[in-house]
Amino acid sequence: MRGLHNQVAVIAGGGRGIGKAIAEKLSGYGSKVIVGSRTEEQYLGTAEQLRQAGGDAQGLPLDVQDQDSIRQFMQRAFELHGRIDSFVYCAGINRRLPAEQYTVEAWDEVMGVNLRGGFMSCQEAGKRMIEQGSGSIVTITSMMSHVGTPNQSAYAATKGGILQYSKVLAVEWAKYGIRVNSVSPGYIQTDLNAHNFKNKSFTDAVLSKTPMGRFGGTDEVAQAVCFLASPEASYITGICIPVDGGFLAGH
Ligand code: NDP
Repeated sequence: MRGLHNQVAVIAGGGRGIGKAIAEKLSGYGSKVIVGSRTEEQYLGTAEQLRQAGGDAQGLPLDVQDQDSIRQFMQRAFELHGRIDSFVYCAGINRRLPAEQYTVEAWDEVMGVNLRGGFMSCQEAGKRMIEQGSGSIVTITSMMSHVGTPNQSAYAATKGGILQYSKVLAVEWAKYGIRVNSVSPGYIQTDLNAHNFKNKSFTDAVLSKTPMGRFGGTDEVAQAVCFLASPEASYITGICIPVDGGFLAGH
């Protein structure tokens, strides 16, 4: 993806897991990468790792539950290179509880990061992109955006919400030269679902519903994100690419 060379890419939630793989891949394609999250060790560590590999990368603090933090992060990111070509919203959390036991606190927490944080972050990135007359936003949704899964009521609601929100942005901001797309990963082994991967009956059940018969890697999700972020996807907006080994196709 040659078009990513020298582009400025900002990733919310880029210090570990899928977000880190996105940062690595974008940097590998020659983008200038800015990574944000709450954990200093992770956003600085990822940026340092990318620089050691020859990339141009910075890490900045970001708490997507706090609008001031988002505003400061986006402004500092913008000032580093004077533009933001692509923004990836990858921050996410999950709290698993049966629907009848779901607490308002857990609901608000998941909503605050996955959906409200996505809204505020895309808005801040979008304002800069509107001024520069171009940009690409990619939101990370989930299979839960599309199918019902037990004990994930808030998570699924946020992932359905951010998918639909992304489509609205695509429609509203096309006139400003901004494309907005989503990537919907299948189960990928990260901190988010580490406990699931220790449960053989869970992994067997997922694999039995996955036509390709294996789990995906963070780099496979990152590759789809890079394509959508890149100028190579110049006529693509408002779509969601599943990266799930065919899981959704079978539902
Ligand atoms: P991880 O738990 O490994 O990473 C989550 C990321 O979100 C971290 O970088 C974390 O950084 C960041 N984050 C969480 N809360 C905040 C906050 N308040 N402010 C800023 N950053 C925050 O999970 P994954 O890599 O698996 O998940 C990445 C995305 O992919 C999420 O949106 C998730 O829903 C989605 N996804 C994951 C799937 C999977 O199977 N793993 C499947 C489908 C979708 P820090 O804690 O340092 O702030």
